[in-house]
Amino acid sequence: MALLRSSSKSGIGMTSSRTRERMLTRLREQGIKDEVVLSAMGEIPRHIFVDEALSIRAYEDVSLPIGFGQTISQPYTVARMTEVLRNGGALGKVLEIGTGCGYQTAVLSNIADEVFSLERIRPLVMKARSHLRTLKCTNVKLDHADGSIGLAEYAPFQGIIVTAAASHIPEELLAQLAVGGRMVIPVGTSTQVLYLIERSAKEYKQTKLETVKFVPLLGGTSA
Ligand code: SAH
Repeated sequence: MALLRSSSKSGIGMTSSRTRERMLTRLREQGIKDEVVLSAMGEIPRHIFVDEALSIRAYEDVSLPIGFGQTISQPYTVARMTEVLRNGGALGKVLEIGTGCGYQTAVLSNIADEVFSLERIRPLVMKARSHLRTLKCTNVKLDHADGSIGLAEYAPFQGIIVTAAASHIPEELLAQLAVGGRMVIPVGTSTQVLYLIERSAKEYKQTKLETVKFVPLLGGTSA
């Protein structure tokens, strides 16, 4: 991703790079240690992913509405899931399910070689595409599709990140994870737990991480 220089992207006042620095300080206090993730989040202007009226709140540790009943995930959740996915190593090809406005996608774009992201609500795909174009994230491919069945034609993926809560872990996603790959996925309805799945040559190892709050992973697509 290109370095951002124009004032609309780098921001002023409550959307400035200094505000982003404060977000990084808070993330460190919350336990995020991966400097690669922190540096990506320090570089990406989160305020351009939300409506202008909300941009003043873009760096608070909250999720915010992005329209169509969906939300942009809170910074801690984005940082934590990316840190777990990366596990200190290089990320090759990654699949994200639930693009939303594209903020997590931009963070991944900064870290991974190649990012595929699927979103079931068409206007959000358009929104995310425009944001990612502004940031010149050229290693990203977005698609309007039901992500619960994954993206078999580009599998296997070294990382799969699901940013909506699933009722169960979809078999298709497990099959599309590379051997040695990692998947992070929130599972549950009223109480949701973040799971890490690690695929080795002989098994899928499941680890329960922490409780989280996501919009539900729904089937099918919406125009
Ligand atoms: N990654 C986003 C989170 C967006 S919220 C961020 O950075 O903030 C989760 C998104 O998942 C919503 O936009 C919702 O429409 C989408 N979603 C839900 N079920 C889906 C499915 N089956 N396939 C693709 N997207 C889905």
